[in-house]
Amino acid sequence: MRPIRIWNTLTQKKEKLPSPKGQPLRLFVCGPTVYDSTHIGHVRTYVFFDFFTKYLRSLGCEVRYIQNITDIDDKIIKRAAQEGTDPLIFSKGHTKSYFADMKRFGVDAVTTYAPATKFISEIIDQVQRLVRRGVAYKIEGDGYYFDIARFPAYGKLSRRTALAAEDAVSRIDESVEKRNKGDFCLWKFSKPGEPVWNSPLGAGRPGWHIEDTAISEHFFGPQYDIHGGGLDLKFPHHEAEIAQQEAASGKVPFVKIWMHTGMLTVGGEKMSKSLGNFITAQQFLAAHSPAIFRFIVLNHHYRSPIDYDEKLALAAEETLEGVRLFLGKLKFVETEGAKKPLKKFSLLSYARKWEATLADDINTPQALGVLFEVMRTVNPFLWQLNSRSIRSLHAFITSRFALLGIPISLPSRPSKISSLAKKREEMRRNQQFIQSDALRKQIEELGYTIEDTPIGPFVWPANPKHQNPNSK
Ligand SMILES: [Zn+2]
Repeated sequence: MRPIRIWNTLTQKKEKLPSPKGQPLRLFVCGPTVYDSTHIGHVRTYVFFDFFTKYLRSLGCEVRYIQNITDIDDKIIKRAAQEGTDPLIFSKGHTKSYFADMKRFGVDAVTTYAPATKFISEIIDQVQRLVRRGVAYKIEGDGYYFDIARFPAYGKLSRRTALAAEDAVSRIDESVEKRNKGDFCLWKFSKPGEPVWNSPLGAGRPGWHIEDTAISEHFFGPQYDIHGGGLDLKFPHHEAEIAQQEAASGKVPFVKIWMHTGMLTVGGEKMSKSLGNFITAQQFLAAHSPAIFRFIVLNHHYRSPIDYDEKLALAAEETLEGVRLFLGKLKFVETEGAKKPLKKFSLLSYARKWEATLADDINTPQALGVLFEVMRTVNPFLWQLNSRSIRSLHAFITSRFALLGIPISLPSRPSKISSLAKKREEMRRNQQFIQSDALRKQIEELGYTIEDTPIGPFVWPANPKHQNPNSK
């Protein structure tokens, strides 16, 4: 296997993919806080890590992929209260719809989903260790907090320690009695009516950051290979995770490689309900196929921002239609092609290029570029290729799109169209051009085009969107 290099946010350089001896590669990716519908920014992150995992597995690298689900949180408590339901029933409902959304986008590489409420004893145990080690302190009537002044390495991931206005924070961390402004809550004493778990720390509920480290420690131990998540989680969330786990175990580094996906904006702005540019997974799927979104995600480098707008979706749709047309032609050449063996076409150098681009920090847009290069190169002499080349071309393109999770299915052609096309071809051969033109018109009126090629007429839907099995 070609060495794979990944950009590590922690060291700010590309590093070799860890290869743990005798066990699978351990990957943890921050899951959602289940208080609202999944939006396309979340889907971007999960689609990328889904592909990343499947790509590594396709190379024979075993990956154990854990994702937490934050199913207890201030936002959940607040939203459930507004809706007059129990917070835990509320979050269970949203967890279910999150799973349903992921399924529709073909995200199914996660080995284990770990809801925080199933790991309360692990969380309590970790907080107790932090208290014993003197890095956590209690605020009476409030909860336990991590003292960032007692962890000198705080800030090593994000190279900062102070909160900024745009940081993703939890209200749970607010207290006027904290020792340092950046201290964060580990265990919050529950107020009446809030979900509560009894513990030697006092009856309460977990903070946000501690869920992840308690869960990852349970599955992977105090140190593991790769932690992923959206760039907005780098500070303070991931910084806090490092502080908690390294302080609790004394082992450094907590994680070898930190991977962060770029942000997704809509129309140049951060998605927000007040701006009216908030797009949920469901809203996207009401207009486009999941394959379109996966293509948009993977046609950008995972660390680059994506600025989504409707034009991007339409361009993706057009591009994928081009792929479908190419595969349609391949199939046509395969069945109708000249029987005499003709031109050979070798894919070896392209296969190597594909591998090299992905091995270099998972450069999916460049890898897609290789596939388009192949299609552009052979398109002018497609009709002259021998059947072996045609078959390997077909396998080369379809297997790679399948790995990307972008299925390309060909439109089915009604038998009526086929027989009209056949009849027209007979007329044309017999030089009965008036009749053959009439038949062409009839075919076109039924929504198909005919391209006369050196090996016969190629029939294809005129309005691909209409016929496209991947779009709605
Ligand atoms: Zn997280």
